[in-house]
Amino acid sequence: MKDQYRVVVIGGGVVGASVLYHLAKFGWTDVALVERNVLTAGSSWHAAGGIHALNADPNMAALQAYTIDLLSEVEAESGIDIGLHMTGGITVACDPNRWEWLQGAYRTFQTIGIDDCHLMGVDEIKEKCPIISTDGIIGGLWADREGYVDTTGTVHAYARAAKKRGADVIEHNKVEELHWKGDHWQVVTEKGTIRAEHVVNAGGLWAKQCGRMVGLDLPVSPLSHHYFLTETIPELEQIDFEVPMTVDLEGFTYMRQDKKGILVGIYEVDHQHWMMDGAPWNYGIELLQEDTDRIENELMMAFDRYPALNEVGISDWVNGAFTFSPDGNPLVGPVESVPNYWLACGVMAGFLQGGGVGKTLAEWMIHGDTETDAWSMDIARYGPQHSNREYIKQTTGQFYSRRFVMTYPNEQLPAGRPLRMAPAHDAMTAAGCRWGQSWGLETPLYFAPQDFVETPSLNRSDAAPFVEAECKAVREAAGLLDITGFSRFEVYGPGAEAWLETIFATKLPKPGRSRLAVMLSPEGKLKGDLTLFNWGDGTWWIMGSYYLRQWHKRWFADHEGPNMILRDISDDVCGFSVAGPNAKAIMQSIQPELDLPFMGCATFDLGLLRCKVGRLSVTGEHGYEIHCRANEHIALRRMLLDAGAGHGLREVGFNALLSLRIEKSYGIWSAEFTQDRTAAMTGMDRWIDWQKPDFIGRDAAMKERDKGPDQVLVTLGLDSPDADCSGYEPVWSNGTRIGFTTSGAYGYTVGQSIAMAMVDRAYAEPGTDLSVHVVGIERQAKVLAPSPYDPDGKAMRG
Ligand SMILES: Cc1cc2nc3c(=O)[nH]c(=O)nc-3n(C[C@H](O)[C@H](O)[C@H](O)COP(=O)(O)OP(=O)(O)OC[C@H]3O[C@@H](n4cnc5c(N)ncnc54)[C@H](O)[C@@H]3O)c2cc1C
Repeated sequence: MKDQYRVVVIGGGVVGASVLYHLAKFGWTDVALVERNVLTAGSSWHAAGGIHALNADPNMAALQAYTIDLLSEVEAESGIDIGLHMTGGITVACDPNRWEWLQGAYRTFQTIGIDDCHLMGVDEIKEKCPIISTDGIIGGLWADREGYVDTTGTVHAYARAAKKRGADVIEHNKVEELHWKGDHWQVVTEKGTIRAEHVVNAGGLWAKQCGRMVGLDLPVSPLSHHYFLTETIPELEQIDFEVPMTVDLEGFTYMRQDKKGILVGIYEVDHQHWMMDGAPWNYGIELLQEDTDRIENELMMAFDRYPALNEVGISDWVNGAFTFSPDGNPLVGPVESVPNYWLACGVMAGFLQGGGVGKTLAEWMIHGDTETDAWSMDIARYGPQHSNREYIKQTTGQFYSRRFVMTYPNEQLPAGRPLRMAPAHDAMTAAGCRWGQSWGLETPLYFAPQDFVETPSLNRSDAAPFVEAECKAVREAAGLLDITGFSRFEVYGPGAEAWLETIFATKLPKPGRSRLAVMLSPEGKLKGDLTLFNWGDGTWWIMGSYYLRQWHKRWFADHEGPNMILRDISDDVCGFSVAGPNAKAIMQSIQPELDLPFMGCATFDLGLLRCKVGRLSVTGEHGYEIHCRANEHIALRRMLLDAGAGHGLREVGFNALLSLRIEKSYGIWSAEFTQDRTAAMTGMDRWIDWQKPDFIGRDAAMKERDKGPDQVLVTLGLDSPDADCSGYEPVWSNGTRIGFTTSGAYGYTVGQSIAMAMVDRAYAEPGTDLSVHVVGIERQAKVLAPSPYDPDGKAMRG
């Protein structure tokens, strides 16, 4: 062990070893992995080793596919046999909705390049997996890239391959303390102190404690998990191939062959947390006592699904713990307040995700950014409110128990809610509001009679008539929307303007004006689709998506400017928007002097309240955003509802907004706008001020402007009477895949299902005939001219 390294990776599980390997592979070879015990001594040694590319989250599916493709490379490079068995895999569906979902998922996988899969009937399932009972099975999805590995071999292979590239692996050496010394870390270990530029927390079951060493309370908890191994199954002795990795979603089990028996793992409905603060330090290579009573139902289903289990004995039980974050995805990346401290933890499926996690983190550390959008595993998707123990317990438990349960796009899950509510929440609930949530804040979806219960569905929801009525109100009269669920940053000080000029690619709005503002990374990728307000008194607001608050804060902190102050005022400010042809009359009935130009903004007295008002709306109508102090939220709502009573004002939710905005071809973050797309691809380049001499991402954006992007964002009109796109559906031209959808909704004003899609530039002309698979069924589509509703923007500007 040296006393100085560029990077110290804490933890010798599969994730730490993969991080070490990728750092060395990408050129940082002065790196060391420090392991408390021996390699694999956490969750890794007793994992079932199952690998499969399919995941309901397309980003995670791509990450898993990368990991699986990498495994044989690491095996070859290290010279260690990792026991790779690529048996292929089957996911079976017994429920008609699940079967419908699998058909849609199959198309999503095509979109992200997992082409080696196909839908299969019951006969093929039986042929590929003779030991399965097909009772109740409707169909399945086959994927080539599935199988299993030897877990210990895999961890050692990553470590050996890293060592071959110059990395060090130090076992039997616990990291005890971490101290930031202004320009480096002092890593205090049992065997001495190491000076390191960077530290990676890949502490697995102990990640929580390794976070606390630097004052972090990470949203992660271990849960226990069972699998069992059987004695030899005679049927398996008689066939000359291995049965595939098989997932029975409705039975909560996965199964793979193990020698001539099988391994069956169970996602227990009655889940159990274990050591929520992290495993004890003296916990070693050991197991928990199995608890078969708790998993009795799942076991009975497994015995029905694989009848041979009734004939042979169980040879071994494994009940071990592994970690989960609230949404089940890894916790990766830098932490805003702790310099050069990186996370690679909360990885619940290290053997199928660890490769991708290692690659992503190594890119981030070395290049300052990742090749692909890392949002779904970025630690910045969580804020301080998510460190609450009860929140972690409810959400991680919910994820675990629902691991194989299908979540519908219109389904709201209960764990960790309600956590944050705007003051008018209860009054809005009494008015029939149905709530979603964003970053822990309850946000209105739509309003309906109290006795209405929405049916979870992959197709257009039975709540559509309520959403339609809300859209109609906005287009024909006025709609009132609670806009508390946005982030608001206040910027001021002598250096504020200069800082904004650098951080935004957009021309800054003049005093009393607002503007849509684009933020780019140095590589020209999107970093934000924000709205800038210049209040004219030296104060600016940056307004964006509420759930991106922490992410934007980290970006702002990383690019801090001199002589300016940035305050996150999102928790202090609430608001409503009023939009529609009657919006002006409503506002002027409260404040006759309120006569803002389009995109104007100013402070007004509205009744007893002093509010900041901007004249803009993503509905495409004449509209106002009205911001008040949090404790004025109830009064503002009452005042606006009273003023709007004679003008047809109706409360609306974000489901209506999603429909209204897509009729205007307005993109939103996480759908049209993501970190792996550029301004030119998404049309955001029209907000770039090319005259500005300097802003982050200028050179890259200029280069792209000259060359033109390969893919562009278009609006599609679909012939789809019963379902709308939700994103990642493949877009076809005469059987060739030429793009994918980014989002979709029914456009109630234009009377058509609308989607936005990224397509190859050659197919972007309005009028081009295409097709799209929506919930697995191919539908005709046509490229529309942008903004199918009011293309000239008369309603909005008038
Ligand atoms: C029963 C079971 C079955 C599973 N099946 C699968 C499967 O089929 N496929 C799959 O992909 N995943 C599976 N998993 C999950 C998988 O095991 C984990 O996702 C994976 O092992 C996590 O790896 P890790 O490196 O993050 O953590 P760990 O394996 O827990 O490694 C963390 C390491 O960090 C070390 N460490 C911690 N703190 C310190 C410190 N302060 N100083 C030095 N060292 C420290 C620990 O000793 C440990 O070795 C299963 C898990 C269980 C329990």
